[in-house]
Amino acid sequence: MPRKNLRSVLMVAFAAVSAIMALSLSLVLGHLATERQREDIGEAISELAGQLRDQLDRGMNQRVRDIQIIAALRQVRDPSTSKNDNRAVLDKLAQTFPNYAFIGMASPDGIVQYATHGLLEGKSVAERPWFQAGKRDLFTGDIHEAKLLAKLLSPQANGEPLRFVDVATPVFDLNGQFLGVLGAHLSWAWARGLEQNVFTPARRNQGIETFVLNRSGEIILAPPGVDPATVKLPRNLPTAEAAGEPVTWPDGNDYLTSLVLTHGEQNFAGLGWKIVVRQPTRIAFAPVRSLQLTILVVGAIGALVFALLGAWLAEAIARPMLRLAEAAERLQQGESGLEIPLENQYSESARLSASLRHLVAGLNDERSKLATLNQALEEQVHARTDMLDRANMHLLSTLEERASMVKQLEELASTDSLTGLLNRRAFWLRADMEYKRAARSGTPLSLVMFDIDHFKRINDAYGHDVGDEALRQLANVVSASLREIDLVARMGGEEFALLLPETAVEGAQLVAERLREQVAQIRVPVATGGVVSFTASFGISAWPQELGLDHALIRADQALYNAKNGGRDQVRIYEAQS
Ligand code: GH3
Ligand code: MG
Ligand code: MG
Repeated sequence: MPRKNLRSVLMVAFAAVSAIMALSLSLVLGHLATERQREDIGEAISELAGQLRDQLDRGMNQRVRDIQIIAALRQVRDPSTSKNDNRAVLDKLAQTFPNYAFIGMASPDGIVQYATHGLLEGKSVAERPWFQAGKRDLFTGDIHEAKLLAKLLSPQANGEPLRFVDVATPVFDLNGQFLGVLGAHLSWAWARGLEQNVFTPARRNQGIETFVLNRSGEIILAPPGVDPATVKLPRNLPTAEAAGEPVTWPDGNDYLTSLVLTHGEQNFAGLGWKIVVRQPTRIAFAPVRSLQLTILVVGAIGALVFALLGAWLAEAIARPMLRLAEAAERLQQGESGLEIPLENQYSESARLSASLRHLVAGLNDERSKLATLNQALEEQVHARTDMLDRANMHLLSTLEERASMVKQLEELASTDSLTGLLNRRAFWLRADMEYKRAARSGTPLSLVMFDIDHFKRINDAYGHDVGDEALRQLANVVSASLREIDLVARMGGEEFALLLPETAVEGAQLVAERLREQVAQIRVPVATGGVVSFTASFGISAWPQELGLDHALIRADQALYNAKNGGRDQVRIYEAQS
């Protein structure tokens, strides 16, 4: 797993802290501002609703008063006043308030006596609710569509049906007798006018809309251009007066919704109208959202700045440590003359630097001690190695000496000191080996014994030294004459033996004859001047496989004896009969 580096950790930490701060600030401020905004806007739209409510109440109250004043006029109460005069009064009143659609006086049996612009005069309104109720008492009637007047009045410009609010009161003559019912139809266009005064285009642009509901909750006034039939009111409409409750309307949008109730004024008891004002929360809270966005953007920039700050800080913190680490690495790679730098920026780095310097100094000390020790050790090893070499060489030369000595001794043991020929013992050993080899290979083998003739006389005549010399010269002559594979030995005194491998008796006879002649030519000088010559006799025996060496020698000896007896200086072959 790769290790995190300080720089990225600090960058992320700084950025995260500032991002979290921005986010939480945005959330908290957004929440507070939303609440505040809801209250402010709630109050504002409630106030608008209140204004509309007051104007509606005041307007209705004035209409009620108008009708009451007319009903109280002496002229109207006097039955003798002409209809024209009374109509003139009503027309005057209608002029003061253009939204009067109709003002008229109906007789107790419901026939209109006189009316503004002579409308409905002579017609019966006996069945109309305002007449029925107006007979008994002051009456204000909730909005309704025009019935009788619909055909008589020009339709509204916006195509909406003519709708009226009715005000009616009984009229009594000067004697207090019931004279009839005075009634007025107030065009509902009046309420539209009030609504448009309060809810100016600027407010509409903010999505602020109003609805006026009657007592049974039907919409009697919708925003201009909106068909009340298409508007669905939320089920959870506030029941009591409310200032800017957030309510989800059936169209799926959230609105801050305010509700006020009309309550009438003085003479006007009120008709139980409710005024609902709404503003989409989307628009109402737009300033809050933009505030939140601003905080977030500033927060993001702050996070970036803090991340860079974190990087710089990490760099500043890490730089001395990195320098220390680099120096330590170079030292480790064996760079000499390098010092761990002093890093005094921070107390921590200073401490690290000091301890590293101590460590390195200690290590250097140890290293030089080790080097000295090593040097001494090496010298010692050299000295020891030299000693060992010398001892080895000495040992080697001693061993060689011993070996040559052994060899010499061996030679001494197997040779005759006077003649240098094999002695009897060595002859026996080697002859045995030759015999075995011949037996294996099936080749013939011959033995020759020879002895100097009358040797005693040479000794006696010329001395022992001349005898020795004669023996030496004979040995030389024989050695030079024989093959390498042949064995020649001095068996004792002036008696010699020859073993001739791969040689049959006939061959041996030739060899013996040749040697006999060569011996006869030997001349041994004597001290008194002159030379001595001598001869030798030879006895030959084959060495058959069934015969031991000693027996073969006896046979050769037998042949030699025969040669001596035969006159000496001759060669004899062993014969079984002899
Ligand atoms: P024959 O012809 O019968 O062999 O007579 P011979 O005199 O040679 O034989 P004999 O055996 O009687 O004599 C051998 C002599 O050889 C006796 C001895 O003095 C002599 N002799 C033996 N060994 C040596 C030696 O090493 N040096 C000398 N100078 N003489 C030796
Ligand atoms: Mg002899
Ligand atoms: Mg002899």
